[in-house]
Amino acid sequence: MAAGMQLVTPGLVLREVKIGEADRILTVLTPELGVISVSAKGSLRLKSKLFSACGLFCYSEFTLFAGKNMYLANDAQVKKVFFGLHESVEAMALAMYLAELALTLSPVGGEAEALLRLTLNSLYLISEGKKPLPQIKAVFELRAVCEAGFMPDLLCCRGCQKYDGGDFYFDGSAGLLLCADCAARQNKTPNLDPAALLALRHIALVEDKKIFSFSIPPKSMEALGRVTERYALQVLDKPLKTLDFVHTMLS
Ligand SMILES: [Zn+2]
Repeated sequence: MAAGMQLVTPGLVLREVKIGEADRILTVLTPELGVISVSAKGSLRLKSKLFSACGLFCYSEFTLFAGKNMYLANDAQVKKVFFGLHESVEAMALAMYLAELALTLSPVGGEAEALLRLTLNSLYLISEGKKPLPQIKAVFELRAVCEAGFMPDLLCCRGCQKYDGGDFYFDGSAGLLLCADCAARQNKTPNLDPAALLALRHIALVEDKKIFSFSIPPKSMEALGRVTERYALQVLDKPLKTLDFVHTMLS
């Protein structure tokens, strides 16, 4: 960033750290700058023009001043607040987990815009209670890493090109599929039933607007969730602090 420059950008607050009496340092996901740090001085004062737009999970229009080490918030206007997140511990736990995942991926360029869109859509669905939380979690985990460039090969069995029929094994470390027979030859037990496999392909490949529109039986959802979580963690190669809490809340 060029120090001294002023710019206006939308951004989603994914982390806030309180400093002293009334200041906050925000970590904000923006479509063009990726993840940035923003100093929001005085934003915890009720009279501050930054007060309502700088809270955790606020999606706001920020007017920023480029400082030496981080941006300084001059002004911020709320675009969207996800009130429902604050109404249940489960919803907040999942939102915190998605935020940590997004910040760990910390994409730049066009990938930042895609991840921002995915995160906003996910927070909306969590907030409104429109989809089961485990489904939102699984979609986010797989789609976020796909958008970041880690698309697994979900076309067919790597061993024999079988497309569907029966259970499949998703190998997260190699990012590929094996049918039950080919998996058995490698001493692997299938981890996807047909519904879970279909959902996995759907999440990775379908256009943005449709990623959340599927429904599968609870048992298939569990299998899907195990696979997407393991794959995301493998890609990130880093433990997530919020994961245990999500497990406690969503189980
Ligand atoms: Zn096969």
